[in-house]
Amino acid sequence: TKKKLFSISKALNEINEIIGKQIFYSNIKMSFNYKNENEELLIYGYENEFKQVLLNLINNAKNKIVEKYKDNDKKTKIDINIQRCTNYNTIEIIDDGGRIEEKIIKSIFEPYFTTKENGTGLGLYMAKVIVEDKMRGTINVKNDGENVIFTIKLPHKKV
Ligand code: ADP
Ligand code: MG
Repeated sequence: TKKKLFSISKALNEINEIIGKQIFYSNIKMSFNYKNENEELLIYGYENEFKQVLLNLINNAKNKIVEKYKDNDKKTKIDINIQRCTNYNTIEIIDDGGRIEEKIIKSIFEPYFTTKENGTGLGLYMAKVIVEDKMRGTINVKNDGENVIFTIKLPHKKV
């Protein structure tokens, strides 16, 4: 397949169709927040791979939250923030399910790195390969209080 321009909001709507109900029934409020409200934002790249990346990040957040709060019904959230920048469009995936230990945060994009009993440790590695090697963007992670923020930047013009 060839790279093409695709709509971020359309891709995110499709992601919501796939995973929205599961998130809702896990007592998590997921919201999509568009900073540039009346603009259609685009990405130049591979739409299916992009959706795969987002699904993995959302699943990671969901599974952590479910694991951590399985014995109570604390209200938690996953925010997806979309913003236009000069050369890139930025998508942030933020969960409030607790920080990543500083001693492992450097390792989470490495292949086979996992803290889960049945994890593959390949989701974030694949995300990095897709976003950075295939689509010429960047993916990064940081802690912010009890939140974890993944930031993806992808080009909106042919590169
Ligand atoms: P897997 O989900 O199979 O463990 P991933 O590559 O998707 O593999 O993630 C690697 C590791 O990164 C996870 O095992 C977990 O320790 C950490 N991680 C990923 N996403 C989050 C998150 N949202 N919050 C905290 N830790 C995370
Ligand atoms: Mg994963």
